[in-house]
Amino acid sequence: MSRVYNFSAGPAVLPEEVLKEAANEMLDYNGTGMSVMEMSHRSKAYEEIIQGAQKDLRELMNIPDHYKVLFLQGGASQQFAMIPMNLMKNKVADYIVTGQWAKKAWQEGSIYGKANKIASSEDKTFSYIPNCEDLPISEEADYVYICENNTIYGTKYKKLPNTKGKILVSDVSSCFLSEPVDVTKYGILFGGVQKNIGPAGVVIVIIREDLIREDCLPGTPTMLKYKIHADNDSLYNTPPAYGIYICGKVFKWLKKMGGLEAMKEHNEKKAKILYDFLDESKLFQGTVVKEDRSLMNVPFITGKEELDGKFVKEAKEKGLENLKGHRSVGGMRASIYNAMPIQGVEKLVEFMKDFEEKNA
Ligand SMILES: *Cc1c(COP(=O)(O)O)cnc(C)c1O
Repeated sequence: MSRVYNFSAGPAVLPEEVLKEAANEMLDYNGTGMSVMEMSHRSKAYEEIIQGAQKDLRELMNIPDHYKVLFLQGGASQQFAMIPMNLMKNKVADYIVTGQWAKKAWQEGSIYGKANKIASSEDKTFSYIPNCEDLPISEEADYVYICENNTIYGTKYKKLPNTKGKILVSDVSSCFLSEPVDVTKYGILFGGVQKNIGPAGVVIVIIREDLIREDCLPGTPTMLKYKIHADNDSLYNTPPAYGIYICGKVFKWLKKMGGLEAMKEHNEKKAKILYDFLDESKLFQGTVVKEDRSLMNVPFITGKEELDGKFVKEAKEKGLENLKGHRSVGGMRASIYNAMPIQGVEKLVEFMKDFEEKNA
């Protein structure tokens, strides 16, 4: 068996320890004589798994009691509709468009009401986060929407926008659990877990209780109401049971690693190795404004498409995989999520130096 360093943006690298544990429990979970995949989601054993996962996540993120944690399906993309369907009582919402995902959310929002684009960084290919201190927030806005870490472009909000008292809704898919956050600053935080937590198929929504309402937009399907999932502790129907089990293992792993403070330190250290090199390199260049750089997704280019292709190909031969940039932007992108070991980043930079010498 040989594992590569996997720089994929998602689905992405998971802690090896977690995968090994899951492998060991594949045929017989904890003396039940069956795999978690084969287990009723109403069984005692599974109840402990899902409740344990929620408890550990609450502890890791310090989630207050008046927030609900929901394990849902449909990907982060389904939240683009679920949020307006559940929150748009005035039928107005403000969106800050900092990349493809925020743009999709804004477009989806406009199906259900007046979705205002109050700021954007599209003028410079989403390479920065706009100044959000004094935005034209609408009087009537039911919420202000952001995508906190832009997976494709590699930017991250270092400071949350001033929403002038309006509810903040944030897509944290690609920075979930990468550093501590103050949950009380948000109305909703949500993310697909396949970026920084677990296997595809699970979406975690952390929502302030007073935003969970009966009166969704007319025609909202039962499955798209936060209330039905909150009232049933994410067991209204069959949840993505195996995925939640793996997420639970990752939460335990994070706790063992020292929690989110320690994770932040670890992530900063990793990102610094790569950014420091990009800043001194004569061949490679980062594509993002320095102060808005993401700790998780690091896009870079050589400036020559042909050379980019050569780099990605030769890196793969060295066991450094999935470094090709998103199809919409080209170049390269190294996603260095929680589970990427520091050695992976060191090895990448070593290879970049070598590549630079040979191709400068
Ligand atoms: C990947 C991603 C999405 C889309 O996730 P799906 O689960 O595929 O719907 C949305 N937002 C961000 C920030 C992402 O990185």
